[in-house]
Amino acid sequence: MIPYGRQDITNEDIEEVIKVLRSDFLTQGPVVPKFEKSVSEYCGVRYAYAVNSATSALHLACMALEVGEGDIVWTAANTFAASSNCALYCNASVDFIDIDPISYNISISDLKNKLQLAKQEDVLPKVLIPVHMTGQSCEMSEIFELSRKYGFKIIEDASHAIGGKYLNDPIGCCKYSDITVFSFHPVKIITTGEGGMVVTNNKNLAKKINYLRSHGITRDTNLMSKDDGPWYYEQIDLGYNYRMTEIQAALGLSQMSRLDEYIKIRHKIADFYNKSLSGLPLQIPRQSKDSFSSFHLYVIRLNLSMAKNTHKDIFESLRKDNILVNLHYIPVYLHPYYKNNLGFKSGHCPEAEKYYSEAISIPMFPTLPNNDQLIVVNALKKYL
Ligand SMILES: *Cc1c(COP(=O)(O)O)cnc(C)c1O
Repeated sequence: MIPYGRQDITNEDIEEVIKVLRSDFLTQGPVVPKFEKSVSEYCGVRYAYAVNSATSALHLACMALEVGEGDIVWTAANTFAASSNCALYCNASVDFIDIDPISYNISISDLKNKLQLAKQEDVLPKVLIPVHMTGQSCEMSEIFELSRKYGFKIIEDASHAIGGKYLNDPIGCCKYSDITVFSFHPVKIITTGEGGMVVTNNKNLAKKINYLRSHGITRDTNLMSKDDGPWYYEQIDLGYNYRMTEIQAALGLSQMSRLDEYIKIRHKIADFYNKSLSGLPLQIPRQSKDSFSSFHLYVIRLNLSMAKNTHKDIFESLRKDNILVNLHYIPVYLHPYYKNNLGFKSGHCPEAEKYYSEAISIPMFPTLPNNDQLIVVNALKKYL
C-alpha cells in the first residue's frame, strides 16, 4: 500500500515526546512557547501561537479580525472546507474565487473582476483567505495591492505551505497579509498529530489570538479591569479551548529540525515525477518563478481527450493497485451543506470544476521509496 501522504516519525521525535510525558507539564508548559519560537524564527514573523488544528487557527484569525454577522469572507473554490467554514463559525457569509488554470491558486483576474462588481454593489469582502494550494504561493504581491485598493484584510491559509517561499521570503512572514495559518495534520509537511499555528506581525491581533485560544481569559494586567491579587484572571471575551498540548509541541519542535530536508526531498521526488511522466496525456504541476513550493501535494491533471480511460477509471485502477491516490479538492461550494443551506449551485467556478474532473494527487511524502515512485509512474503509464 502506497499512501498519498504520510508522516515521518524518528526515534529522536519519540524521545522528545517521552521527555514531556515524564515531565511536570502535559499542557501549558515550556515546550509550546519553544515550538512557537522555532516557527516564528523560521518564518521571520513576530508572533506565533500554537493551537490544536489549522481549523481552529482559521477560526481565531477570523475572530481576531472581527469577522461577524453581515460581513463577507472570500476564499478559493479549490480548497478544504475549513478555509471557508471558519467564516461561517463567525456568522459571516462566504463566497468563492475561481482558480487559475495554471497554478490552481485563486485567479487574480477573477478576483479583480469580482472586486469591481462587489464594489458597485457595495458587497466588498472584509477578509480574503488565499490558499497556497499544494504549497505553491499565491501571487501575494498582487493580492496585497488589491487589498489596499478595496480595503479587505488577508489571512493566508498556508496549511500546505510551511517551508515554502514567495519572492525569497518564507511563507508565514506576513509581509503581504495580516495573519498566516499552518496545519500540522500528519499528511502535511511537519506534524504534531493534530495541530496548527497562527502567525502575525500585528501586536493587537496577536494579543487577541492569544487569549481567544484559551477561553478569552487573560492574566495580563494591561488587559484586565482590575487586579485582585496573584490568583486573579479575567475572562474579557468569549474564547475557546484551542490550546496545543506539550506532547504535540514536542513532536512539532523536533520535526522543525528536519523541515528544510523534507522540502528538499519533496522537490527531488517532484523532479523524478516531472521527468518520468513527460509524454503521458497529463499536465504536471507548473511552478511560478516567484514561488518556491513546499510540494505538499503532487497533482497531475489528466488530458482526458487523449487518455485511454476515464478519470474515475484511472483513479479506481490506481487504488486497486494499492496506490492510494486522492483528489484535492471537491470545490467547497458543491458540498450539500453549501448548496442546501447557502444556495450555491454547480457552475459557480467553472475552472475549479474542470480541475475537479481531471485532477489526481499521486503519492508524495519524504519517506516515499524510489521503488514506490517507480511503481506509481508505471501504473500511470499502464492506465493512461
Ligand atoms: C489541512 C487543511 C486545513 C485544516 O487543517 P487541520 O489542521 O486539519 O484543521 C485547512 N485548510 C487547508 C487548505 C488544508 O489543507
